[in-house]
Amino acid sequence: MARYTDESLRAVKDAVDMVDLVGTRTFLRRVNPDSYTGLCPFHDERTPSFSIKPSEKVYFCFGCQASGDAIHFAQETEGLDFIGAVEFLADRYGVTLEPAAEAPGDAERRRRRERLYALLDRTCAYFERVLWESSEGAAARKYLAGRGLEEAILREFRVGYAPSGWARVVDGSRRSGFTEDELLAADIVQRSAERPGSVYARFRRRIMFPLCDRRGRVLGFGGRAMAESQGAKYLNSRDGERYHKGRHLFGTHLARSHAARSGAVVLCEGYTDVIAAHQAGVRNCVGLMGTALTEEQVGELGRLAPTVVLALDADGAGFGAMLKAAERVAASRRIEVRVAALPPDSDPADALEQQGPEAVRSLLGESVPFVRFRVERILAAGDRESGEGRDRVLEQLREVFGALKLGPGAMREELEREIASSLSVSEKLVEQLLAGRDGVVASAPESAVRGGGTPALAVGERTERAFLELCIALPERGRELLAELDIDSVFGSPLARAAAAHLRTHLEAPAAEAGDGALAALLAELAVRAAALAPVPAELEVERRQLELARVERAIAGARGVDAARLSALVREREAVKRELATWLDRALEDTAAPRD
Ligand code: ZN
Repeated sequence: MARYTDESLRAVKDAVDMVDLVGTRTFLRRVNPDSYTGLCPFHDERTPSFSIKPSEKVYFCFGCQASGDAIHFAQETEGLDFIGAVEFLADRYGVTLEPAAEAPGDAERRRRRERLYALLDRTCAYFERVLWESSEGAAARKYLAGRGLEEAILREFRVGYAPSGWARVVDGSRRSGFTEDELLAADIVQRSAERPGSVYARFRRRIMFPLCDRRGRVLGFGGRAMAESQGAKYLNSRDGERYHKGRHLFGTHLARSHAARSGAVVLCEGYTDVIAAHQAGVRNCVGLMGTALTEEQVGELGRLAPTVVLALDADGAGFGAMLKAAERVAASRRIEVRVAALPPDSDPADALEQQGPEAVRSLLGESVPFVRFRVERILAAGDRESGEGRDRVLEQLREVFGALKLGPGAMREELEREIASSLSVSEKLVEQLLAGRDGVVASAPESAVRGGGTPALAVGERTERAFLELCIALPERGRELLAELDIDSVFGSPLARAAAAHLRTHLEAPAAEAGDGALAALLAELAVRAAALAPVPAELEVERRQLELARVERAIAGARGVDAARLSALVREREAVKRELATWLDRALEDTAAPRD
């Protein structure tokens, strides 16, 4: 997907001012010319554990392990994809992006796409004018005001009104040079059944909610009928070249940066629910577009934030499908799913209208983990009187636990206790039943929060990373050591091994040319950590011996009970390494204590 030339990408990276970019998200304090620190924009904290290294344009958080380069930072804080982040940075730092050469067909398709976007945008602007400036829009204005929605937020969402006459939107677009084929492709008009060859406006006498992509480009519309007699209460754009039902979420472009910053995204059902939430200050809220939650939308939610709060009508028609989708999401464990169960007959729009913004905030602000929500509903709905009924409830719960792959932990234990007390059975029984038929408990959960990183690194891996940091901080000796070490035998962790190999040739600018992914993230972390160090040379020698010691320990574990002669040689080797380590530790302590310039 080479949308822009490599030179453009490089130019953007070169132009970024890392202190400025990160400075828009957190206050930075200068530690030394190449190290700044501040409160982490990716997790809640009181004392700064977030650092950047301006010369390399990389960041790392010691608290949550978030790390990466400038493009990654823009992706995470602005909620953009890679190309979107590149465009955002190019815009901010005044770089002109050169499109990569396109095949003839591609250029053609791009022009068509751009014309359809322009047509949809123009139509949206027309609906807005009708809503706010025409007498025909008065009833719609009154309806929206009656729902407690303010003009400012409605304008931000570009809400409009499609008038009853269809000629104006069609004729106006034609006068601006759009073809009938384009009007049909954008689903602004449809062919007339009665009068073959003629077209008429698809939306009439409806409040229009533009459906936008994450960059705010209009893809289509959802239209709400003003009169009961108008047929469908909601009419949405049909699947076409730009709009694809079930792929988009309403309000993504306005919610994405808030979702990225807060780490959570709230999903509501209706357009007015989303607008009401934003008006009440819940700016990380998006909505469905007249469909049950789809896999694609789930993916989109996960890209917006690691935590998804479902705020949907628990007795609504789409709830069953939503539960299934949410179950799959929760089971994948990439996204943490929570549920803000709405009381019957109450949605955020009603709450705003009847009780004001505070009510909306509390409605959306209280959520429980998805598994707890499921368990509580099953317990509430089931027959808890008869033994048979209780068995059925347990069977349902077993399915939920299985589907959600809820591993052992405090949450599971707490739920098991509650289930036992609610069904008046022993905790032991509950535990056994929920563990599955074979009595084997599902495997322990992986890190549930995406980007949570590696909270508990093995000691060996910590040593390996500390050594690499010191190599970067003390490049002269670091280069020698990296060159002479047998990387494959000394580094136990594959990732650290890859980093060591990379650093052999990139010690001056560790994060350069590292690409994307885990290795790049680790190198960014190492570079930032190293920049904050002021080590004495002996510390590097200490870590070098720590590495040796870990290597010998691994070899000893492998030789035990296998090769007695080798084992005794290794044990002797271990003693020698330990003696060296002790010597260097003393040196390091002396040097660190000595006054330095
Ligand atoms: Zn952090």
